Amino acid sequence: QEIDIADPIRTRGILERYHLNAKKSLGQNFLTQPQILKNIVSAADITEADDVIEVGPGIGALTEQLARHAHHVLAFEIDENLLDVLDETLDPYDNITVVNADILQVDLPKVVAENLDGKHTLKVVANLPYYITTPILKGLLQSTLQLDQIVVMMQKEVADRLNAQPGDKEYGSLSVAIQLDMNVHVEFEVPRTAFTPQPNVDSAIVKLTQREPWPVQPNDKDAFFKTVRGCFAHRRKTLWNNLLGIYGKTPEIKAHLTQVLESLAIKPGIRPERLTVVDFIRLTNALQEN
Ligand code: SAM
Repeated sequence: QEIDIADPIRTRGILERYHLNAKKSLGQNFLTQPQILKNIVSAADITEADDVIEVGPGIGALTEQLARHAHHVLAFEIDENLLDVLDETLDPYDNITVVNADILQVDLPKVVAENLDGKHTLKVVANLPYYITTPILKGLLQSTLQLDQIVVMMQKEVADRLNAQPGDKEYGSLSVAIQLDMNVHVEFEVPRTAFTPQPNVDSAIVKLTQREPWPVQPNDKDAFFKTVRGCFAHRRKTLWNNLLGIYGKTPEIKAHLTQVLESLAIKPGIRPERLTVVDFIRLTNALQEN
């Protein structure tokens, strides 16, 4: 077998031969430590029973490792300059499809239906382009696809926000939005030195799996996200002041908010970062009731 694409000398050779300069604007930081890629594949527990969606194959370093274990890999790459490279580097594998598309624009369920047989567990594994980590995650979670799990590399700071608990300084609307449906587990951290070119942040591999439903569910998810975002709009302000910011300050609204908070035994003077996911669900539902 040939040496891994991620081998630093092989990666450098590929980049030189194709006159490629990693594009910062597309978040192109290529992993050049084969062992880290293998650890990502292990964290996602990829087997022949799995089809894998990859975002941003780059020059194919992770794609190759996935293809060695998965049934099929479907990879979405926005940069058409990488297509010839991928043709060459992934030539030894017959279970990879590369689609030249923007992951934020593509009709994912349609392309999945066209390229995968629907008989395998669907997982997402990727070293994400960091400039669009949040929109990619939101898109995946809102899609109609049955995703068994999502194992992705992102900047450590974002991983900490996804994983934060009430009271943590990183706890915010992103934590609540993700934790509504997902368990978040930080698998391991990856130093910036593992990439070519080196990003100026450290990274972490995060595993997201479907969580058991909370005891209450939001009646209206859009309203839930809107309330959560609104409550965290001014972190230093009290919950009360943030709520007035969302709903207005008329005496009627104040009376309504007072009554809702009282019924939930939530003190108006607390900071938004003290509220749990369940608090936010109850609050949104109660606010909508009349
Ligand atoms: N998978 C490779 C690795 O691990 O070395 C490259 C990862 S690099 C951090 C991110 C990749 O995502 C780049 O190849 C970049 O061109 C691609 N990319 C950036 N924006 C994208 C988008 N909107 N849709 C699909 N791919 C994108």
